[in-house]
Amino acid sequence: MSIAINRQRLADYFTTLAETSSPSREEKQVADYLRQTFTALGADFIHEDDSAAQTGSGTGNLIIRFTGSTDAPPIFFACHMDTVKPGHNVQVKRDGDIFTSKGDTVLGGDDKSGIAPLIELINLLKENKTAHRTIELVFTTCEEIGLRGAKALDHRQLQATFGYALDSTGVDKIIIAAPAANKVRIDVHGTASHAGLNPEAGVNALLIAAQAITKLRIGRIDDESTANIGVIEGGVATNIVPEHLFLKGEVRSHSMTKLDAYTDEMRRHFVDTAADWPIPPESEARRPTVTFTVESDYPAMRLGETDQVLETARTAARKLDRQLSFVIGGGGSDANVFNSFGLATAILATGMNEVHTTDECLDLNDMVRLTELLYAIVTE
Ligand SMILES: [Zn+2]
Repeated sequence: MSIAINRQRLADYFTTLAETSSPSREEKQVADYLRQTFTALGADFIHEDDSAAQTGSGTGNLIIRFTGSTDAPPIFFACHMDTVKPGHNVQVKRDGDIFTSKGDTVLGGDDKSGIAPLIELINLLKENKTAHRTIELVFTTCEEIGLRGAKALDHRQLQATFGYALDSTGVDKIIIAAPAANKVRIDVHGTASHAGLNPEAGVNALLIAAQAITKLRIGRIDDESTANIGVIEGGVATNIVPEHLFLKGEVRSHSMTKLDAYTDEMRRHFVDTAADWPIPPESEARRPTVTFTVESDYPAMRLGETDQVLETARTAARKLDRQLSFVIGGGGSDANVFNSFGLATAILATGMNEVHTTDECLDLNDMVRLTELLYAIVTE
């Protein structure tokens, strides 16, 4: 089986999408463009959910359906419409098959290198009148600022129970697992005093934090878990013993049990350090305290070897004489959230490269390969 991808058309879709700037919360123009494009291509159903109220975006998520005629179960493909910054006024440079930005913005291949192949896919199905299964397209907002669109997605509108997020670097790669993450914030409260006149009356919040940090396990904790402290802020002046400071960090693990254990270990080190802090009996200083706040950032995902979503991708790749590499991921994305809704979701690579930098680039041939794979999946 082979289908001739219209390379120029695919390149044009990508360029138009990339040059329709869409930093997080500013996805409306892209959403309008997609609505228009898929309406013209004969979509049976276009739904904008009411997530905008929760995300603060100018648009909700979009769910678009092309009803199929084969017996194969419905399937969905998901991409996020937003990009990171600098993402305003993106101008695409094309050199042969390679796309880059002009150098002062990201390119936005994350995630428009997934969206363009989806538009090309529907074009191919229409013009070849190819029989296909029901296809649902999900376009989310605010992925880059905490998966907010996906978390608020009106997923009950979907008929499909499994699908793919097109959102990863690499080629012919499929991500089948990703860790869960907790975000933590630690507030350390000591007692302020004049550092020169009366240091004895103070309890230095910074010293407590420093001592606690030396006890933490930071970096790669085991083969499926990591931890980090990424932000420290506090203190007022050089002559004041700092009363308050806060730290922000995260813990990630593929195991929810370990995630909880490592998060609690971090909490205990701070709480115990404050509790054991020596305060001289004659001092008027208060006993230091720690407030440790945990917010679940996203849940883990792990697909089974024999899950339909992986079996379908494997079969499609075989039709194309390709080998997909099945990979364990280290980051969180919309797919984590979809999986938590009970929608088995794997992540397909789009060829995006050097993402989240102004050096971002993309090879048209990688988008062509992805489009061929999508075509094989829906016509299986
Ligand atoms: Zn992405």
